[in-house]
Amino acid sequence: MARRSIHQNVKLHSQRTGNKSIKITLIEDQPEYCFTWSKYGSEYGKSVGKQLQKYCCTQCRSIYDKKKKNAEDTEPIPCLIFNVQDDRFESEIENHGHYCNPQHLNQIRGKELRRNELAKIKHTRDKPAAVHVKLAESITQRFGERGEEVLLDIAQHAAPSKTGFAKAATRVANSLHPKINTISELDDERNSNLKLTVGGEVRQNLDEKYVLWNDENNIIFGSPFFITLFLMAVEIFLDGTFKYRAVGFDQCYRIFALVNETVVVPVFTILMKGKSTESYTNVFTAISNLVNNVPIAAIYAHFDCEIAAVNALRLIPCFQNVIAKMCTFHVRNNMHKRYQKLGLTATFPDAVAKFINKFSTRVGGKSSTHSNWSP
Ligand SMILES: [Zn+2]
Repeated sequence: MARRSIHQNVKLHSQRTGNKSIKITLIEDQPEYCFTWSKYGSEYGKSVGKQLQKYCCTQCRSIYDKKKKNAEDTEPIPCLIFNVQDDRFESEIENHGHYCNPQHLNQIRGKELRRNELAKIKHTRDKPAAVHVKLAESITQRFGERGEEVLLDIAQHAAPSKTGFAKAATRVANSLHPKINTISELDDERNSNLKLTVGGEVRQNLDEKYVLWNDENNIIFGSPFFITLFLMAVEIFLDGTFKYRAVGFDQCYRIFALVNETVVVPVFTILMKGKSTESYTNVFTAISNLVNNVPIAAIYAHFDCEIAAVNALRLIPCFQNVIAKMCTFHVRNNMHKRYQKLGLTATFPDAVAKFINKFSTRVGGKSSTHSNWSP
């Protein structure tokens, strides 16, 4: 027996989000239950001057598909015809009877809100935990007046388990970007927009990109604004971390600019393979080219203790007026490591050990003055 539907095209959620709503029809004698409808085939009706779309019962269809797969006999799927222009069902009576069980409205409400919140990740880029909080907020906002029991029921259908929902949110976030495993893949024309913005959107000003340069081993992130800061900085700081780095790279190298003598801003973030003078020369040359080889205003460039980087810097046009200084902490730390490695502290007579100690302390004093410290 076909149940008669009394409401057409009931939309359960706000149109503001711009997401597609689940189309439902309510059931006369069971006000809290409904059937859900999904698109069946493509649009038609041009010959009669209409824009029509067949919708079939979602639940009946899944039963139908399962039976067909097992080569079982099955009844035709109940369908309705939807008028796209008028945004309503042409007929409210199904052409065939349902063999599915109608679904509770709270289930649809929950699914709808879940789908909505997951769709928003594309714009918000929220973390799964934040998306879960927003889902709870949406449920309260939309159905709060219906009482605690209904809210809980909807929440249960929206996110049956917190980890399951977090996984779904992660899947959406992961689907937003193509998987890029090597820098060369970024050079592929299909992916080249990802050099412009994180989301791959094209900006009006094409100079406004965030991958400033790359070869197949290294990639420099920054922006035109940061290049300006770099040019006018009073001092610059260069440091890499080998411990925390992207997969496939040897280090994450960063250049900071001291701006207005007060603020230190990271102006370039560089993922690098290698730490030889040659590697640094490649990267620093690229940076010099970014500023048309104009010497930057900075007087001092501070390093930790990387001689390869310091040696590379000396030959780069944009750094020609910059004096390289090494960090006393790192230099002394390195010296101590060397002494210990050579067993000097143990075998040297007291006087020599004292001298070494004094010497390394002096190094600290020397480097903190504004004189040129040459390694
Ligand atoms: Zn059905």
